[in-house]
Amino acid sequence: LWRRCLERLEGEFDAEDLNTWLLPLQAREDEGALRLFAPNAYTLDVVRSDYLERIRAVLEHIHGAAVTVYLSVGSAGAPRAEKTAPTAAPAVNGHAVVETPAHNLDPHYTFETFVEGKSNQLGKAAAMQVAQNPGRAYNPLLLYGGTGLGKTHLMHAAGNLICQQKPGTKVLYLRSEQFVSAMIEALRAKNMDAFKRRFRSVDALLIDDIQFFAGKDTTQEEFFHTFNALFEGKQQIILTCDRYPKEVDKLEPRLKSRLGWGLSVAIEPPDFETRAAILLSKAHDKGVDVPEDVAMLLARRIRSNVRDLEGALNTLAARANFFGRAISADFAQETLRDLLSTHAQAVTVPNIQKTVADYYQVRLSDLLSKRRVRSLARPRQLAMTLAKELTEHSLPEIGEAFGGRDHTTVLHACRTIRSLMDKDIRLKQDWDQLIRILTG
Ligand code: ADP
Ligand code: MG
Repeated sequence: LWRRCLERLEGEFDAEDLNTWLLPLQAREDEGALRLFAPNAYTLDVVRSDYLERIRAVLEHIHGAAVTVYLSVGSAGAPRAEKTAPTAAPAVNGHAVVETPAHNLDPHYTFETFVEGKSNQLGKAAAMQVAQNPGRAYNPLLLYGGTGLGKTHLMHAAGNLICQQKPGTKVLYLRSEQFVSAMIEALRAKNMDAFKRRFRSVDALLIDDIQFFAGKDTTQEEFFHTFNALFEGKQQIILTCDRYPKEVDKLEPRLKSRLGWGLSVAIEPPDFETRAAILLSKAHDKGVDVPEDVAMLLARRIRSNVRDLEGALNTLAARANFFGRAISADFAQETLRDLLSTHAQAVTVPNIQKTVADYYQVRLSDLLSKRRVRSLARPRQLAMTLAKELTEHSLPEIGEAFGGRDHTTVLHACRTIRSLMDKDIRLKQDWDQLIRILTG
């Protein structure tokens, strides 16, 4: 029924609107009624105000009689709304019952399910402070960094904590594309006042991936005013961006400057230990039994981002379930062969030593020698740190491989390099470049 309804609506609405608002809906038919599930409350709001009437009319036409439509937030498989809101009362024929939870946040994305590591601890701490003191700690809070590193997760975690601490607080989360669509829609329908009210009446506004505002001048203009209104009202603003906003082209200077008023925190790719810890924690949440050596195997090979890591875990769990097998290192190798080979080959210590020596144009024998001149000491420390980061060798093993050094020397090298990298941009560039060379 819903399929046919959609087909008909395709002829009536813009493809873009349809993609944004109607296609994300999941449907379930239920004894003459149609249950529609929206991914979040915002979508639900829009569908109810702009599309519901038309949906009902089309359904009635197709079905030949009035169809009861239920609209709620959740998914057709596991209706999430039933946890946050009471089940819908039976509807009067042909009229929708609307269940709207207080917010549209993903309840699974919390601080408890977020694994902390050096790469994200600042971001996590900032998000927690903001959540504990919305509008007053840092405003705006901007989390930036590459894809799949946990920005959206942290943003929801902050929103969830805000709501948990003060139930009834209005938190609105949306992806930047949704802000754009809402604005275009409001302009077209000539109800900008409603648009303004919708965004300015919240206690916290969370907008994800604002790099999509680039080049959209009207959107930026409108967002700028929204921003100012919220800022003056001491309402919290949390934003994410896939890079440092000053580096986003076609973002208005005055907006960039506003973004810097609060706190901007970089989320970095997690190191090996954190990747392994995240994997084990996700496995635990999903009730999947993943031995530590498998977690280490995946964490070592899949460095790009957490989303890929999670994808590998899901594939592994599904296959193990399908074949009725336990997840072992062999099973993982076999199942994920293609995936793992697209990620880097295992990096070895000799390989790291040779690469670093070539990179700094020093002799390998000098790199491994006891000579302490600075031109050798720094590359040597870098190579040790890379060995710690990219392989699973222990500190003593790495010390041994570097001309029989003590494990405390290796530890000292790792600490020195990591702390220097925060200050020394050239060193950081060398590091990134070496990682790229080594991991393909
Ligand atoms: P981003 O918004 O930065 O692209 P997401 O927040 O969507 O990334 O994260 C991608 C996936 O990785 C999500 O499922 C998220 O829960 C998970 N993830 C990322 N970092 C962590 C972490 N530190 N602890 C637990 N899960 C994480
Ligand atoms: Mg995201």
